[in-house]
Amino acid sequence: MLCEAMEAARPVLGTGKVADYIPALAAVDPNAFGMALATVDGDVHGVGDWEQPFSIQSISKLFTLALGLARGGDLWKRVGREPSGNPFNSLVQLETEQGIPRNPFINAGAIVVTDRLQTLTGDAFGAVRDFLRAESGNALLDADPAVAESEALHGHRNAALAHFIASYGNLDNPVETVLQHYYAHCSIAASCRDLSLAGRFLARHGLRADGSRLLSSSDAKRVNAVMLTCGTYDAAGEFAYRVGLPGKSGVGGGVLAVMPGRGALCAWSPALDQAGNSLAAVGALDAFVTATGWSVF
Ligand code: GLU
Repeated sequence: MLCEAMEAARPVLGTGKVADYIPALAAVDPNAFGMALATVDGDVHGVGDWEQPFSIQSISKLFTLALGLARGGDLWKRVGREPSGNPFNSLVQLETEQGIPRNPFINAGAIVVTDRLQTLTGDAFGAVRDFLRAESGNALLDADPAVAESEALHGHRNAALAHFIASYGNLDNPVETVLQHYYAHCSIAASCRDLSLAGRFLARHGLRADGSRLLSSSDAKRVNAVMLTCGTYDAAGEFAYRVGLPGKSGVGGGVLAVMPGRGALCAWSPALDQAGNSLAAVGALDAFVTATGWSVF
């Protein structure tokens, strides 16, 4: 079934535009494609370049959210749960909404969540990396330092967002610390295999690979719901319509989708549509779900 999904996406493979806001991302082959399925009982299957690491970018926001929620607290007082209707790096809503970002998956929201995780752990990036390593079994998984450095060099907008949020008193840690951890977790390189395994806790209603509980089943449901409504930039409606699963995308071209009770799927291909979602990855997920009927609807 994964092979059929890959074939179905072939007509759009390489169409669209590879993210080029930093040189390290622009150098990726637009025709690369991988897809992996990790089932709730532990199997993992893949096709194409499914073991090739790529820049996870905003997919990291899903893991910062889960880890930030896992220890309780008042995160939802500091970040909302509504689609923003604006680009992921937009500044405009923050002023009218007094420094409370619309949701945890736009950059402003992810910066607040990173701040929370930094307070909870003292090492927000390390917490995300260690979680991904543990769930995927890939002890070598790490940030790409060249990407992290490039993110910081071109990070004027994120720095503006962070300072603006801080001006409303919605950051506990110094702006520079929060940004450094935010860039680092966005710069993690992981494969479709790694990410499908790491996303499986959401298909297992909050249970990690070792059987311990990260989130209550209620919180796992909530994270999935926010992914469905806000996880794929300003095109979450289109993604829900086509794929019908909670999904989180990143400008590296990856998309992680959750099939509650069944497993997690990750597809990757670097060329993006105008909203920032990978054309071939979304196409393959659409084909897979249409063929299997494994949607939440
Ligand atoms: N690190 C990227 C940024 O903050 C994330 C982009 C994305 O994948 O949405 O601009």
